[in-house]
Amino acid sequence: MSIQQNLQQIKNSLPAHVTLVAVSKTKPVADLQTAYQAGQRIFGENKIQEMTEKWELLPKDISWHMIGHVQSNKVKYMAPYVDLIHGVDSVKLLEEINKQAAKNNRVINCLLQVFIAEEETKFGFSSLEINDLFASTAFANLQNIKIVGLMGMATNTSDTNQITKEFSNLASLFNQFKTLALPNVSMETLSMGMSGDYPLAIAAGSTMVRIGSSIFGTR
Ligand SMILES: *Cc1c(COP(=O)(O)O)cnc(C)c1O
Repeated sequence: MSIQQNLQQIKNSLPAHVTLVAVSKTKPVADLQTAYQAGQRIFGENKIQEMTEKWELLPKDISWHMIGHVQSNKVKYMAPYVDLIHGVDSVKLLEEINKQAAKNNRVINCLLQVFIAEEETKFGFSSLEINDLFASTAFANLQNIKIVGLMGMATNTSDTNQITKEFSNLASLFNQFKTLALPNVSMETLSMGMSGDYPLAIAAGSTMVRIGSSIFGTR
């Protein structure tokens, strides 16, 4: 099937409250143009240099989401334009995003990545670390970032019970933080679900899915 057909089919299957991030990492600009012409406006990339090259070439009404692991020394390249950073997994990174956002007179929206999987390779905070972060004065001083939600990746397994359990844990954490009243926190977005597991993620409460291969084909 074509990119247009894949996109249409996925969009038709998503509930109205779920936002689709089209994950276009490694794909050529022409593929993104095809998706753009089919109406897609949110694209997810996992390498800052690749995302910046695509941002330069493509229409400026695209919302660019950084979904990958971010190195602090590269934040400056996306700070002028990035719309949402999904994979914020350390206080040091958050402080660098705040610094670069200030330089650009912006407030950059961030999701805290939470470690939910039974795999050692996945990055993220624990719920205790997030509690500590939100309680700290250092965090209160970060005026150029806004934590708009949480992001997580489930274990890469065929055990759907396991995946559902992990997504449900993240959703309950998200719901807990929803009532939090801090100037730089506003929990609205729960980013979970990829091509292989997004129906399970939506059933568990996801509000944003990150889908690559089911739209653009295998990488
Ligand atoms: C690549 C990637 C995706 C998309 O994966 P697909 O299986 O191609 O849908 C989603 N989230 C993150 C963090 C990724 O790196």
